[in-house]
Amino acid sequence: MAKLYFNYSTMNAGKSTVLLQASHNYRENNMDTYLLTARVDDRAGAGRIASRIGIGAEADVFVPSDDLFTMVSDRISQGEIACVFVDEAQFLSSDQVWQLARVVDDLNLPVLCYGLRVDFQGQLFPGSATLLALADEMREVRTICRCGRKATMVIRQDENGNAITEGAQVQIGGNETYVSLCRRHWRESVGDLTAG
Ligand SMILES: [Zn+2]
Repeated sequence: MAKLYFNYSTMNAGKSTVLLQASHNYRENNMDTYLLTARVDDRAGAGRIASRIGIGAEADVFVPSDDLFTMVSDRISQGEIACVFVDEAQFLSSDQVWQLARVVDDLNLPVLCYGLRVDFQGQLFPGSATLLALADEMREVRTICRCGRKATMVIRQDENGNAITEGAQVQIGGNETYVSLCRRHWRESVGDLTAG
């Protein structure tokens, strides 16, 4: 049976590298794959997934209004695929995660989603929240904090290296950088945020 996978991580853990390697393994065995990525992330240019170690592959882009079940169905009508890969899966809408679940259940195609778990304020992205609820299997793509502990959180820094604690969940085209930290060092940088 096909499954819906959520491979989650914090920033700079190399999840795009893991995605590209997994897709390459299918293609090396003459099985085609369908790659999707969010348009909101244009670091690699539209329609391309790129990793920081210099490898990349062409991908279709999705925006929140796209029906991913239809996009995958259209792709299948042009030729058989073995697997669907989704990068920047934190930018999926909740509806789109359900559409991917239908791809798994009704088309019997594995869907592997790669994305960030939480934003710089320590909050789940909506797409990631729905994936955590619906995925058949979850795996963590690990990276480490400067102290050597596992990094599970991310801070957004301004150009002077100060942690930014307010602003939009998705920031495009700014001068901010992101640093992945363990929770202890995240709290040291950001302070204790409370739900209220
Ligand atoms: Zn640390």
